[in-house]
Amino acid sequence: MIAAADFNITKAERSKLNDINLENIPFGKYFTDHMLEADYEDGEWKNVEIKPYQPMLVQPSLAAIHYGQSIFEGIKAYKNPNGEPFIFRPQDNFRRFNISAERMQMPPVPEEIFMEGMRQLVKMDSAWIPGQEDHSLYIRPFMFSCDETIGVKPSDKYKFMIILSPTGPYYSTPMRIYVEEEFVRAVPGGVGYAKAAGNYGASMFATAEAKRKGYDQVLWTDAFEHKYVQECGTMNVFFIIGNTAITPDLEQGTILAGVTRDSVITLLKEMGFNVEERALNIDDVIDAHKAGLLYEVFGTGTAATISLIKELRYKDYVMEFDVANWQTAPEIKKRLNEIRYGKREDTHGWMVKL
Ligand SMILES: *Cc1c(COP(=O)(O)O)cnc(C)c1O
Repeated sequence: MIAAADFNITKAERSKLNDINLENIPFGKYFTDHMLEADYEDGEWKNVEIKPYQPMLVQPSLAAIHYGQSIFEGIKAYKNPNGEPFIFRPQDNFRRFNISAERMQMPPVPEEIFMEGMRQLVKMDSAWIPGQEDHSLYIRPFMFSCDETIGVKPSDKYKFMIILSPTGPYYSTPMRIYVEEEFVRAVPGGVGYAKAAGNYGASMFATAEAKRKGYDQVLWTDAFEHKYVQECGTMNVFFIIGNTAITPDLEQGTILAGVTRDSVITLLKEMGFNVEERALNIDDVIDAHKAGLLYEVFGTGTAATISLIKELRYKDYVMEFDVANWQTAPEIKKRLNEIRYGKREDTHGWMVKL
């Protein structure tokens, strides 16, 4: 078993931090001074290293490139008003990472490497966690297959890595959404519930088509009837209809179990909403809209937290929303941010101190 004491640590000779203005940094563009890397070989994890962020040398035959055994996570670290660093619900991402690993026939990453490795890495680069409101440090753990033969089979070798990227406010302006009826993101029996790299590659064509039609993103529907709503791009989706908040359930394995989704469900209940996790037919969404009961539609995810939807188009039926007067989504975003930045009591134990 690997213990944190066995981590091999090499410090960067100089920090790049002074070269970068941490205000209004674009998402995912800059990386901190260090990264974590571990190898899976001969049936065990070894060589856990924290070292300077640097390029990797790989063979052209690298299995991940050819057959796509590649998974990832997205987590954020914040600083409270006293400058103390916290990570938001990392244990949930750890659990989900190994669920993705199992589905992709990859070895589980031990908690000691994922959690303790992340803790040590973030601690080492904690000067990179921006202090300003709406800023955070994005944590990207990932694993990919490393065999260097192009036969189709699960690899014998894998790499697990963590890189860190400081991010500014993710200004997501309210979105115009196209209800997708031709392309699908996930199918029952498929890999929709795994955070697999290929899910992203597979979704890009439909997203580009929606953009060509003048929309920002698609609202995915189910693979068989193209009727049941799934996710909005790479975010989970919520509909506020009357005093009920509805989001698709996780039963069929086509929905990514978002940590933000789970947090939003908890906050909605605290705010007095009925929350229903269930199949939701787009026809019922339209009926609610016609009855004047469809109040808000929004996406949830780690990158943007909450993204408001100002227009939803299904076939020729266009639903427009006056997002400036919404009550619920902005309130949830406010509460979630207050918890993250240490300005509201964290009654659920979501913030993990470094
Ligand atoms: C990552 C992701 C989400 C959001 O999950 P969070 O844990 O809230 O960041 C939603 N849908 C898909 C497809 C995703 O990949």
